[in-house]
Amino acid sequence: MEIINRKARMASLTRKLRRENKTIGLVPTMGALHAGHLSLVQEARQMCDIVIVSIFVNPTQFGKNEDFDKYPRDLTADAAMLAEYQVDYVFAPTAAEIYPSGFSTYVWVEGFSETLEGEIRPGHFRGVATVVAILLNTIRPDFAFFGQKDAQQSIIIKRLTKDLGFETEIVVMPIIREESGLAMSSRNAFLSPEEHQAAAIIFRSLKDAKIAVREGERNASILAQIVSERINSEPLANLDYVAVVDAETLEPVEKVDDREILIAVAVRFGKTRLIDNTILNRKQ
Ligand code: AMP
Repeated sequence: MEIINRKARMASLTRKLRRENKTIGLVPTMGALHAGHLSLVQEARQMCDIVIVSIFVNPTQFGKNEDFDKYPRDLTADAAMLAEYQVDYVFAPTAAEIYPSGFSTYVWVEGFSETLEGEIRPGHFRGVATVVAILLNTIRPDFAFFGQKDAQQSIIIKRLTKDLGFETEIVVMPIIREESGLAMSSRNAFLSPEEHQAAAIIFRSLKDAKIAVREGERNASILAQIVSERINSEPLANLDYVAVVDAETLEPVEKVDDREILIAVAVRFGKTRLIDNTILNRKQ
């Protein structure tokens, strides 16, 4: 496995691989890898000849008062893990490599970037869409792998590739959870032991809503209320939002019908902000 820091080297290498008719899979990450990331890597390994994992804590997707400086970074441990998963290349550029002086082009996926996470984190998806466009354009992978954990992000990336004509196929993989049901996240490392235990309430509340749907409840506000009441019953939890939306368009819905309907939440425990979601009318 080779670690590459330069964009130009990454681009010339993947040009060569394409000429050799190798299929290329890209797994974009911010590092601090866990089983959620590794599930994407495994899928990429199965589907593609060449697997590239990018590790880049992208400054443009963090707000001023967010945790960019504190975000966990451990390239050595990450690289050791990826080598075991037969990854071919790790692309780990510096911020100056991605955003050299004079950089001034940003990607804005209008209508999808202002709601939910975007409402609370203005500019977040502008940073995400911009860095993903740069990665896709540099590497030109056949497939890029994202997690359902960041449902809004996956939807935005799909829209972006369609709109800008990238030929990469976006593959979205299921959420990997800890035994308690807590969705795996690099930010879980910030939780105190008490908060970590308490955070299991998020998945329990989503499950409650799913059970209610199974038992016939269709009203979106009642389902949102089931989740908010359960989360608010946990003294360490502070609910940012709970939303019931169309899983493809992110538009708010009033009723659960035949479309896939997503229920998405963001919850703060102390200074740590966690997100999670589930498709209400899908079995898994
Ligand atoms: P991040 O490093 O947090 O930017 O995540 C990189 C990719 O891994 C994104 O596509 C995430 O959606 C995905 N991911 C993060 N956590 C999980 C998880 N628990 N299960 C599945 N995918 C995940």
